[in-house]
Amino acid sequence: MKDLTRYARQYLFAKIGEEGQRKLMSSRITVIGCGALGTVLINTLARAGIGFIRIVDRDFIELNNLQRQVLFDEGDIRENLPKSVAACRKVEKINSQIEVDAVVSDVNFTNIERLIQDVDLVLDGTDNFETRFLMNDACVKLGKPWIYSAAIGSQGLTMVILPGETACLRCVFESAPPPELTPTCDTAGIVATASTVIASLAATEAIKFLSGNAADLNATLYSYDVWTREVKSFRLDGLREVTDCATCKRYTFEYLTGERAQKTTTLCGRDAVQVTRAEPVKLDFAALARRFEKMGEASFNPFMFQAKLDGYEFTVFPDGRAIIKGTGDPAQAKTIYAKYIGV
Ligand SMILES: [Zn+2]
Repeated sequence: MKDLTRYARQYLFAKIGEEGQRKLMSSRITVIGCGALGTVLINTLARAGIGFIRIVDRDFIELNNLQRQVLFDEGDIRENLPKSVAACRKVEKINSQIEVDAVVSDVNFTNIERLIQDVDLVLDGTDNFETRFLMNDACVKLGKPWIYSAAIGSQGLTMVILPGETACLRCVFESAPPPELTPTCDTAGIVATASTVIASLAATEAIKFLSGNAADLNATLYSYDVWTREVKSFRLDGLREVTDCATCKRYTFEYLTGERAQKTTTLCGRDAVQVTRAEPVKLDFAALARRFEKMGEASFNPFMFQAKLDGYEFTVFPDGRAIIKGTGDPAQAKTIYAKYIGV
């Protein structure tokens, strides 16, 4: 028998109530990405009593994660735990009444549908556009509501997507911006409160939706800057009706076919992995060099860009193809590519 009293202060809030609390306790979610956003989402929603939480992440914990990734500590690093496993262990201590499923995996077109098909809501804790477009395709295809969240520097964005009802991510962003123009936490830094605020807003939308308060969901693309306190809120009602969205109007789901996926090839005997973009881009090496020079050494000519950083050697070609020396693990190479070059 589950103890309802631990949630007393939550269901005392009239919009939730005991009935809403019971709905939360029978709800199932998948959180994709367990970093700055994911750990706040999971921490909040585990404490709120969401009955089942699947945590998916491909990465291990590094010391520089502890500044903002609230479910981890130094002991997890000493044990060299994957993020999803460490998060799962922490959640089991926070709330033993809920079920947690830790998945240590790269999320891609081969597995995403399986990871979300048995849940009520999907939450975005990722750090790159490729995975978000993949989530968007899979959620629209399977009719799963999902909540987009992103944070970088001192700013964050969030948006609720109800497939078939509201605008989807590709109604708003038709394609990913060029990688050298897309900052990542590893190149632009992040103020911890930016991810905390955005993930808290996204978790609130999740609680509204799962407790039976879908009518109160926020219908905007909401942006907040914790440093300047600037708020931007773009109303999205009616947008889906006027777009010719490849995902939610034409149902082409290009990201689920793998046509748009990055491909990796392990280069035998070289401790290196080649990462190839599904769609070639035209990289601006000067912009990429400015980014790398803040952190390590970089040089380029018209044909090739080279840099050394964190024990890795990067060789990048103008179409975005890269050889990353210092790892033989394709999943790690994709992570490093996403961190430093972008997707
Ligand atoms: Zn759409």
